[in-house]
Amino acid sequence: MARIEHPAATETPLEWDTPLFRTARTQFEQALPHADVSPVVAARLRHPERAVMVSIPISRDDGTVEVFPGYRVQHSTVLGPTKGGMRYDPEVTLGECAALATWMTWKCALLRLPYGGAKGGIRCHPKELSEDELERLTRRFTVELVSVIGPQEDIPAPDMATNEQTMAWMMDTYSMQVGHAVPEIVTGKPISVGGSVLRHEATGAGVVMVADRACRQLGFRLSESRCVVQGFGNVGGIAAQELAERGAAVTAVSDVSGGIYRAGGLDLQSVREWVAVNSALAGYPHATPITNAELLELPCDVLVLAAREDQITEENAGRIAARVIAEGANGPTSIEADAILAERGVVVLPDVLTNAGGVTVSYFEWVQDLGRFFWTREETRARLAEKLGDAFDRVWELADDRLLTLRGAALVTGIREVAGAIEARGLFP
Ligand code: NAD
Repeated sequence: MARIEHPAATETPLEWDTPLFRTARTQFEQALPHADVSPVVAARLRHPERAVMVSIPISRDDGTVEVFPGYRVQHSTVLGPTKGGMRYDPEVTLGECAALATWMTWKCALLRLPYGGAKGGIRCHPKELSEDELERLTRRFTVELVSVIGPQEDIPAPDMATNEQTMAWMMDTYSMQVGHAVPEIVTGKPISVGGSVLRHEATGAGVVMVADRACRQLGFRLSESRCVVQGFGNVGGIAAQELAERGAAVTAVSDVSGGIYRAGGLDLQSVREWVAVNSALAGYPHATPITNAELLELPCDVLVLAAREDQITEENAGRIAARVIAEGANGPTSIEADAILAERGVVVLPDVLTNAGGVTVSYFEWVQDLGRFFWTREETRARLAEKLGDAFDRVWELADDRLLTLRGAALVTGIREVAGAIEARGLFP
């Protein structure tokens, strides 16, 4: 094994020093003492390898031109190409992408996928853009990034406010640049251009697989539990559906417009139909309206967080009345809240494990694209369950063994995998 012994600088460049990056960094520092990695490897892992910022000019439908900032951060390439979502959101910054890219590295390593982490996006209000404007924005963004993405370099996927259509535009734009179809450049595409069965449902389904395993370890059945879901998009909408299919009562759901509550359980089919017509939960007539803040504090067995970062903080952690919190979103619990929840005995199923179903089926999609050979839904679902189950068991065992929180154990497991690869490869040159 190559030895790396020299100490190195550890300052955080100001460009990505944002609250979310500080959270990711603090979690890393808290996990380090248990990860047994050398100071030099630790220093390397504190810093994303590459960050790209671009300006994306597009013609609006009214003929004016607007320029949007776009980002892509690649945290680690030691295990393979980088992998991570692209989000369209008014709060996207370089620091946010750096934090999310760092978590993606631990997540991929924890799941033993041959990837490092990346994240990117465009700072914009996606709801204020027409479909045509979103297409122009996505295509120009892809061209701006063409020299740093690639099937062996960095493979984008959907995230907040991006979807299969966004990925199809990216795949088409990249393919036009290189002169032939390259389905393996992105994951989360439509099946007609090389997407995988189950990818659309993978993150939400994975959240429920992990929650189910945790409930069994804790001695109660998910199928008999009351669940609350924050966020009703790709992750939250599917998680709610999977929970209901397993027999759980989903008593409340919310989106950015607010939440709805029904003590006996919501009729999710009717909720979905309402959202399909009205584009938001607000105004749904067959349940009690509640705020997002109230939803988080409802008594329940499992609270699924599937909206965005920083939802459980020092301010509300003391009032959370769930037995288990399943983090479908990335970074929904602050460092301070984590400590309060641990003290109160609330079990937090951490994002790097709980929402890893998405990147796992993305990996399956990439493998299928490279081999031009596609799997059935049953095979894909069974492989997903096996991967998540294996990661869950390793995390649970380490947490038990070293008296760590599940987040601590998940991060230590991921960090050790990456550190082992850096130690083996050595520091170039
Ligand atoms: P999405 O855009 O499909 O859905 C987001 C949902 O959250 C929407 O219902 C939106 O209205 C709601 N929301 C936004 N802000 C909110 C707020 N302040 N309060 C309550 N609800 C709010 O996005 P998504 O793909 O479901 O992603 C959700 C989270 O899951 C993100 O943190 C994302 O990084 C994470 N994630 C997504 C995937 C994936 O495969 N899509 C994989 C892993 C992690």
